[in-house]
Amino acid sequence: MNNLQKHYQQLSELKGRPELLIHICCGVCSVYPLIYLRKYFRISIFFSNSNIYPYEEFERRLEALKTYLKHLDDPEIKLIVDAYDNEGYTKKLSVFKDEPEGGKRCRICYRLRMEETFRYASRHGYAYCTTVMSISNRKNANWINEIGEELQKLYPNTTYLYADFKKDDGITRNERMNKELNLYHQNYCGCIYSLMERNND
Ligand code: SF4
Repeated sequence: MNNLQKHYQQLSELKGRPELLIHICCGVCSVYPLIYLRKYFRISIFFSNSNIYPYEEFERRLEALKTYLKHLDDPEIKLIVDAYDNEGYTKKLSVFKDEPEGGKRCRICYRLRMEETFRYASRHGYAYCTTVMSISNRKNANWINEIGEELQKLYPNTTYLYADFKKDDGITRNERMNKELNLYHQNYCGCIYSLMERNND
């Protein structure tokens, strides 16, 4: 079974609308996944993105998410903002600072943020947890789902929800909705290395 098939199987086995903690990296990536998932889950968002450099950019992405939540006007969706520690985070990424975007550094980056999400979900009794990152064409959805599977073993009381939000027209819908909303759209992935890469281009 591929990740999408696993996702649909999980949805078909749901009982009621369980609580889901979803890691969200920015406003742009949250648009379609939130509309889609709220049919199945009671959603809390975990904004855990110490990768983002500089802090002003972290704030811009968070503001874009808040703008979208205001637009959704859904009192059921909660927003949890994790602590920001770009210095500590960048140290962990620095081993692979010369890798291009999409390389080994990104796998570490996915894992760090997903593990924070799992830890929080497990500690606070969420039945499910996942990340929105697979909506992006620039992110490796297979790695994301592999990491989810690994973390599930470390935090067995929370189930990882397999996902590839870009599939089944997800990415087209997300882009269309973003155009209508006119949310802030960043032009680099997030870390200082991706910012340098963009500036060099
Ligand atoms: S390019 Fe993006 S995913 Fe890769 S390490 Fe930087 S912020 Fe993380």
